[in-house]
Amino acid sequence: MKAARVVWILALSLALTFSAACGDDDGGEGTEDGTGDTDPGDSTGDDTGSDDTGDPPPDEPEPPSSDFTIELLYIVEPTPSQREVFDAAVEVWTSVITNALAPAALDPGMIPAQCGGPLDGPVLTVTGVAITVDLSPIDGPGRTLGAAGPCGLRNTDQSPLLGTMIFDSDDLDVLEQRGILSTVILHEMGHVLGFGTLWEFEGFLQDPSVRNGPGSDTHFTGPLAIEEFEKALSGTYSGAVVPVENSGQQGSADGHWRENVMVDELMTPSITGFEPFVPMSAITIAAFEDMPYFDVSYALADPFTVPTRFAAPAPEGESLDFNCKLIRPKFEVSSAGDFYALER
Ligand SMILES: [Zn+2]
Repeated sequence: MKAARVVWILALSLALTFSAACGDDDGGEGTEDGTGDTDPGDSTGDDTGSDDTGDPPPDEPEPPSSDFTIELLYIVEPTPSQREVFDAAVEVWTSVITNALAPAALDPGMIPAQCGGPLDGPVLTVTGVAITVDLSPIDGPGRTLGAAGPCGLRNTDQSPLLGTMIFDSDDLDVLEQRGILSTVILHEMGHVLGFGTLWEFEGFLQDPSVRNGPGSDTHFTGPLAIEEFEKALSGTYSGAVVPVENSGQQGSADGHWRENVMVDELMTPSITGFEPFVPMSAITIAAFEDMPYFDVSYALADPFTVPTRFAAPAPEGESLDFNCKLIRPKFEVSSAGDFYALER
Protein backbone atom coordinates (compact mmCIF):
# COMPACT_ATOMS: atom_id res chain seq x y z
CA MET A 1 0.00 0.00 0.00
CA LYS A 2 1.35 3.27 -0.91
CA ALA A 3 0.75 4.91 2.36
CA ALA A 4 2.82 2.27 4.00
CA ARG A 5 5.59 2.77 1.59
CA VAL A 6 8.61 4.43 2.98
CA VAL A 7 11.74 5.74 1.50
CA TRP A 8 14.47 6.51 3.84
CA ILE A 9 18.12 7.05 3.53
CA LEU A 10 19.95 4.22 5.12
CA ALA A 11 23.01 6.26 5.75
CA LEU A 12 21.09 8.53 8.03
CA SER A 13 21.11 6.16 10.90
CA LEU A 14 19.14 7.36 13.77
CA ALA A 15 18.11 4.71 16.15
CA LEU A 16 14.51 5.64 16.12
CA THR A 17 12.18 3.49 18.04
CA PHE A 18 8.42 3.13 17.60
CA SER A 19 5.83 4.02 20.09
CA ALA A 20 6.68 5.08 23.50
CA ALA A 21 7.41 2.78 26.34
CA CYS A 22 8.13 -0.20 24.25
CA GLY A 23 11.50 -0.52 25.71
CA ASP A 24 14.25 -0.92 23.37
CA ASP A 25 14.03 -3.83 21.32
CA ASP A 26 17.04 -3.72 19.21
CA GLY A 27 15.35 -4.54 16.06
CA GLY A 28 18.36 -5.36 14.12
CA GLU A 29 17.59 -8.47 12.27
CA GLY A 30 16.89 -8.59 8.69
CA THR A 31 16.93 -10.73 5.70
CA GLU A 32 18.84 -10.27 2.61
CA ASP A 33 16.03 -11.34 0.51
CA GLY A 34 13.41 -9.15 1.88
CA THR A 35 9.93 -10.23 2.29
CA GLY A 36 8.06 -7.58 0.59
CA ASP A 37 9.39 -8.61 -2.72
CA THR A 38 8.02 -7.35 -5.86
CA ASP A 39 5.92 -4.45 -5.32
CA PRO A 40 4.39 -3.82 -8.63
CA GLY A 41 5.53 -0.31 -8.74
CA ASP A 42 3.06 1.91 -7.28
CA SER A 43 3.70 5.42 -6.35
CA THR A 44 4.33 7.01 -3.07
CA GLY A 45 1.98 9.76 -3.80
CA ASP A 46 -1.65 10.06 -3.22
CA ASP A 47 -3.77 7.00 -3.16
CA THR A 48 -7.33 6.67 -4.02
CA GLY A 49 -7.01 8.15 -7.41
CA SER A 50 -8.85 6.12 -9.90
CA ASP A 51 -8.49 6.87 -13.49
CA ASP A 52 -11.66 7.24 -15.31
CA THR A 53 -9.99 5.78 -18.31
CA GLY A 54 -10.19 2.12 -17.68
CA ASP A 55 -9.58 -0.40 -14.98
CA PRO A 56 -7.22 0.52 -12.19
CA PRO A 57 -3.89 -1.27 -12.31
CA PRO A 58 -3.87 -4.44 -10.25
CA ASP A 59 -1.53 -2.98 -7.67
CA GLU A 60 -3.79 -0.05 -6.97
CA PRO A 61 -7.13 -1.52 -6.05
CA GLU A 62 -10.03 0.72 -5.49
CA PRO A 63 -10.46 1.23 -1.78
CA PRO A 64 -13.59 -0.61 -0.78
CA SER A 65 -16.55 1.30 0.42
CA SER A 66 -16.52 1.46 4.17
CA ASP A 67 -18.83 2.55 6.90
CA PHE A 68 -16.06 2.61 9.49
CA THR A 69 -14.99 6.08 10.51
CA ILE A 70 -11.95 7.53 12.23
CA GLU A 71 -12.25 11.02 13.65
CA LEU A 72 -9.02 12.76 14.62
CA LEU A 73 -9.21 15.26 17.47
CA TYR A 74 -6.02 17.30 17.41
CA ILE A 75 -4.73 18.57 20.69
CA VAL A 76 -1.89 20.31 18.90
CA GLU A 77 -2.53 21.41 15.37
CA PRO A 78 -0.25 19.65 12.86
CA THR A 79 1.28 21.39 9.90
CA PRO A 80 -0.67 21.09 6.65
CA SER A 81 1.75 18.50 5.31
CA GLN A 82 1.55 16.48 8.51
CA ARG A 83 -2.23 16.65 8.40
CA GLU A 84 -2.15 15.17 4.91
CA VAL A 85 -0.22 12.20 6.25
CA PHE A 86 -2.67 11.72 9.11
CA ASP A 87 -5.55 11.90 6.65
CA ALA A 88 -3.91 9.31 4.40
CA ALA A 89 -3.53 6.93 7.35
CA VAL A 90 -7.21 7.39 8.17
CA GLU A 91 -8.04 6.55 4.58
CA VAL A 92 -6.04 3.35 4.75
CA TRP A 93 -7.49 2.07 8.01
CA THR A 94 -11.04 3.00 7.08
CA SER A 95 -10.53 0.94 3.94
CA VAL A 96 -9.21 -2.04 5.89
CA ILE A 97 -11.99 -1.99 8.49
CA THR A 98 -15.31 -1.65 6.76
CA ASN A 99 -18.21 -1.87 9.19
CA ALA A 100 -19.88 0.79 11.27
CA LEU A 101 -19.85 0.14 15.00
CA ALA A 102 -22.61 1.02 17.41
CA PRO A 103 -23.02 4.79 17.49
CA ALA A 104 -21.92 6.53 20.65
CA ALA A 105 -22.15 10.17 21.60
CA LEU A 106 -18.78 11.64 22.44
CA ASP A 107 -18.51 15.08 23.99
CA PRO A 108 -14.92 16.25 23.55
CA GLY A 109 -15.33 18.31 26.70
CA MET A 110 -15.93 15.11 28.67
CA ILE A 111 -12.88 13.21 27.46
CA PRO A 112 -10.77 12.33 30.51
CA ALA A 113 -7.27 13.72 30.84
CA GLN A 114 -5.85 10.17 30.59
CA CYS A 115 -7.26 10.06 27.07
CA GLY A 116 -6.05 13.49 26.02
CA GLY A 117 -9.07 15.55 27.00
CA PRO A 118 -10.92 17.64 27.66
CA LEU A 119 -11.12 19.30 24.27
CA ASP A 120 -13.30 21.89 22.65
CA GLY A 121 -15.74 20.95 19.97
CA PRO A 122 -19.25 19.74 19.31
CA VAL A 123 -20.60 16.41 20.48
CA LEU A 124 -19.75 13.72 17.95
CA THR A 125 -21.68 10.63 17.00
CA VAL A 126 -18.93 8.07 16.65
CA THR A 127 -19.58 4.96 14.57
CA GLY A 128 -15.94 3.99 14.48
CA VAL A 129 -13.14 5.43 16.55
CA ALA A 130 -12.27 8.95 17.64
CA ILE A 131 -8.61 9.55 18.37
CA THR A 132 -7.01 12.37 20.30
CA VAL A 133 -3.74 13.34 18.65
CA ASP A 134 -1.02 15.09 20.58
CA LEU A 135 2.27 16.29 19.16
CA SER A 136 4.47 16.94 22.16
CA PRO A 137 8.02 16.35 23.35
CA ILE A 138 8.49 12.90 24.82
CA ASP A 139 12.15 12.07 25.08
CA GLY A 140 14.03 14.24 22.62
CA PRO A 141 15.15 13.19 19.15
CA GLY A 142 15.18 9.46 18.44
CA ARG A 143 14.10 6.55 20.56
CA THR A 144 10.46 6.84 21.46
CA LEU A 145 8.44 8.19 18.59
CA GLY A 146 5.05 7.95 20.14
CA ALA A 147 2.50 6.27 22.29
CA ALA A 148 -0.80 4.88 21.13
CA GLY A 149 -3.70 2.69 22.04
CA PRO A 150 -7.40 2.52 22.71
CA CYS A 151 -8.29 4.51 25.80
CA GLY A 152 -12.04 3.99 25.94
CA LEU A 153 -14.08 0.96 24.82
CA ARG A 154 -17.78 0.72 24.09
CA ASN A 155 -19.47 -0.81 27.11
CA THR A 156 -21.47 -3.10 24.87
CA ASP A 157 -19.06 -5.02 22.65
CA GLN A 158 -15.76 -3.68 24.03
CA SER A 159 -14.80 -2.30 20.66
CA PRO A 160 -12.48 0.71 20.63
CA LEU A 161 -14.38 3.99 20.73
CA LEU A 162 -11.78 6.52 21.83
CA GLY A 163 -8.07 6.22 21.20
CA THR A 164 -5.02 8.28 21.96
CA MET A 165 -1.91 8.89 19.91
CA ILE A 166 1.02 10.96 21.11
CA PHE A 167 3.88 11.66 18.73
CA ASP A 168 7.20 12.99 19.89
CA SER A 169 7.38 16.46 18.38
CA ASP A 170 11.17 16.26 18.46
CA ASP A 171 11.04 13.51 15.85
CA LEU A 172 8.33 14.71 13.51
CA ASP A 173 10.45 16.84 11.20
CA VAL A 174 13.03 14.11 10.71
CA LEU A 175 10.38 11.48 10.12
CA GLU A 176 8.69 13.67 7.58
CA GLN A 177 11.92 14.52 5.81
CA ARG A 178 12.82 10.86 5.57
CA GLY A 179 9.43 9.97 4.18
CA ILE A 180 8.54 7.61 7.00
CA LEU A 181 6.03 9.64 8.96
CA SER A 182 3.24 7.84 7.14
CA THR A 183 4.53 4.47 8.28
CA VAL A 184 4.84 5.61 11.87
CA ILE A 185 1.31 7.01 11.90
CA LEU A 186 -0.14 3.92 10.23
CA HIS A 187 1.62 1.72 12.74
CA GLU A 188 0.47 3.71 15.76
CA MET A 189 -3.07 3.94 14.45
CA GLY A 190 -3.05 0.15 14.22
CA HIS A 191 -2.38 0.04 17.95
CA VAL A 192 -5.30 2.40 18.57
CA LEU A 193 -7.55 -0.01 16.67
CA GLY A 194 -6.45 -2.81 18.95
CA PHE A 195 -3.38 -4.33 17.33
CA GLY A 196 -1.34 -5.62 20.24
CA THR A 197 -3.33 -3.57 22.71
CA LEU A 198 -6.57 -5.56 22.87
CA TRP A 199 -5.26 -9.05 22.15
CA GLU A 200 -4.99 -10.07 25.76
CA PHE A 201 -8.34 -8.44 26.47
CA GLU A 202 -9.94 -10.66 23.82
CA GLY A 203 -8.04 -13.79 24.84
CA PHE A 204 -5.85 -14.02 21.73
CA LEU A 205 -2.43 -13.59 23.34
CA GLN A 206 -0.75 -16.75 24.55
CA ASP A 207 2.49 -17.16 26.50
CA PRO A 208 3.19 -13.44 26.90
CA SER A 209 6.88 -12.73 27.25
CA VAL A 210 6.53 -9.76 29.58
CA ARG A 211 5.00 -12.10 32.13
CA ASN A 212 6.68 -15.39 31.23
CA GLY A 213 10.07 -14.08 30.27
CA PRO A 214 12.03 -13.23 27.13
CA GLY A 215 12.15 -16.05 24.65
CA SER A 216 8.68 -17.36 25.44
CA ASP A 217 6.92 -18.54 22.32
CA THR A 218 4.43 -15.72 22.48
CA HIS A 219 1.76 -16.02 19.83
CA PHE A 220 -1.57 -14.68 18.60
CA THR A 221 -4.28 -17.30 18.37
CA GLY A 222 -6.83 -15.69 16.08
CA PRO A 223 -7.74 -18.37 13.53
CA LEU A 224 -7.92 -16.07 10.53
CA ALA A 225 -4.50 -14.57 11.20
CA ILE A 226 -3.10 -18.08 11.66
CA GLU A 227 -4.53 -19.08 8.31
CA GLU A 228 -3.01 -16.06 6.59
CA PHE A 229 0.36 -16.66 8.26
CA GLU A 230 0.43 -20.22 7.00
CA LYS A 231 -0.47 -19.06 3.52
CA ALA A 232 2.40 -16.56 3.64
CA LEU A 233 5.02 -19.11 4.66
CA SER A 234 7.56 -19.83 2.01
CA GLY A 235 8.91 -22.80 3.96
CA THR A 236 8.12 -24.38 7.27
CA TYR A 237 7.84 -22.75 10.66
CA SER A 238 8.10 -24.83 13.79
CA GLY A 239 7.03 -22.37 16.47
CA ALA A 240 3.59 -21.46 17.70
CA VAL A 241 1.61 -19.36 15.26
CA VAL A 242 1.23 -16.41 14.78
CA PRO A 243 4.55 -15.47 16.40
CA VAL A 244 4.46 -12.30 18.51
CA GLU A 245 7.46 -10.27 19.62
CA ASN A 246 8.94 -12.00 22.63
CA SER A 247 11.84 -9.87 23.69
CA GLY A 248 10.26 -9.45 27.08
CA GLN A 249 10.31 -5.67 26.99
CA GLN A 250 7.26 -3.59 27.65
CA GLY A 251 5.90 -1.98 24.56
CA SER A 252 7.52 -3.95 21.79
CA ALA A 253 6.93 -7.31 23.37
CA ASP A 254 3.51 -8.92 23.23
CA GLY A 255 2.17 -6.11 21.06
CA HIS A 256 3.76 -6.67 17.64
CA TRP A 257 4.51 -9.44 15.20
CA ARG A 258 7.86 -11.00 15.95
CA GLU A 259 10.65 -9.01 14.36
CA ASN A 260 12.94 -11.88 13.51
CA VAL A 261 10.16 -13.78 11.75
CA MET A 262 8.07 -11.12 10.08
CA VAL A 263 11.01 -8.75 9.57
CA ASP A 264 9.73 -5.78 7.64
CA GLU A 265 5.99 -6.10 8.08
CA LEU A 266 4.24 -2.90 9.17
CA MET A 267 3.36 -4.17 12.63
CA THR A 268 6.76 -5.50 13.73
CA PRO A 269 8.62 -3.39 16.29
CA SER A 270 11.00 -1.93 13.76
CA ILE A 271 11.42 -1.17 10.11
CA THR A 272 14.22 -3.20 8.65
CA GLY A 273 16.37 -1.20 6.39
CA PHE A 274 16.74 -3.53 3.47
CA GLU A 275 13.54 -2.65 1.76
CA PRO A 276 12.20 0.79 0.95
CA PHE A 277 8.76 -0.62 1.40
CA VAL A 278 6.85 -1.57 4.53
CA PRO A 279 4.08 -4.00 3.70
CA MET A 280 0.78 -4.33 5.48
CA SER A 281 0.20 -8.04 5.16
CA ALA A 282 -3.03 -9.98 5.00
CA ILE A 283 -1.91 -11.44 8.34
CA THR A 284 -2.27 -8.04 9.98
CA ILE A 285 -5.64 -7.46 8.36
CA ALA A 286 -6.80 -10.91 9.44
CA ALA A 287 -5.82 -10.13 13.02
CA PHE A 288 -8.41 -7.35 12.89
CA GLU A 289 -10.98 -9.65 11.35
CA ASP A 290 -10.37 -12.02 14.24
CA MET A 291 -11.60 -9.37 16.63
CA PRO A 292 -15.27 -9.96 17.33
CA TYR A 293 -16.51 -6.58 16.12
CA PHE A 294 -14.66 -5.82 12.88
CA ASP A 295 -15.39 -6.61 9.25
CA VAL A 296 -12.43 -6.08 6.96
CA SER A 297 -11.36 -5.81 3.36
CA TYR A 298 -8.14 -7.35 2.06
CA ALA A 299 -8.03 -5.07 -0.97
CA LEU A 300 -5.09 -3.11 0.41
CA ALA A 301 -3.08 -6.09 1.61
CA ASP A 302 0.46 -5.97 0.27
CA PRO A 303 2.31 -8.97 -1.08
CA PHE A 304 4.10 -10.56 1.83
CA THR A 305 6.04 -13.75 2.31
CA VAL A 306 7.40 -14.99 5.60
CA PRO A 307 11.05 -15.55 4.81
CA THR A 308 12.55 -18.99 5.11
CA ARG A 309 15.92 -17.97 6.33
CA PHE A 310 17.27 -15.21 8.37
CA ALA A 311 20.46 -13.47 7.52
CA ALA A 312 22.94 -12.03 9.94
CA PRO A 313 21.75 -9.03 11.89
CA ALA A 314 21.56 -5.92 9.84
CA PRO A 315 24.55 -3.64 9.98
CA GLU A 316 24.15 -0.76 12.34
CA GLY A 317 22.22 2.10 10.99
CA GLU A 318 20.20 0.06 8.58
CA SER A 319 17.12 -0.39 10.62
CA LEU A 320 14.69 1.92 12.24
CA ASP A 321 13.31 0.85 15.56
CA PHE A 322 10.03 2.06 16.92
CA ASN A 323 10.01 2.03 20.67
CA CYS A 324 6.33 1.82 21.20
CA LYS A 325 4.51 2.81 24.29
CA LEU A 326 1.27 0.92 24.14
CA ILE A 327 -1.73 2.51 25.78
CA ARG A 328 -4.23 0.07 27.26
CA PRO A 329 -7.93 0.76 27.70
CA LYS A 330 -8.78 2.70 30.82
CA PHE A 331 -12.50 3.35 30.41
CA GLU A 332 -15.72 1.90 29.18
CA VAL A 333 -18.02 4.38 27.51
CA SER A 334 -21.78 4.19 27.21
CA SER A 335 -23.67 5.04 24.06
CA ALA A 336 -24.60 8.32 25.78
CA GLY A 337 -20.94 9.14 26.23
CA ASP A 338 -20.52 8.47 29.95
CA PHE A 339 -17.10 7.22 31.00
CA TYR A 340 -16.61 4.47 33.57
CA ALA A 341 -13.22 3.39 34.84
CA LEU A 342 -12.35 -0.02 33.53
CA GLU A 343 -11.38 -2.38 36.28
CA ARG A 344 -9.32 -5.33 35.34
ZN1 LIG B 1 4.22 -0.41 17.84
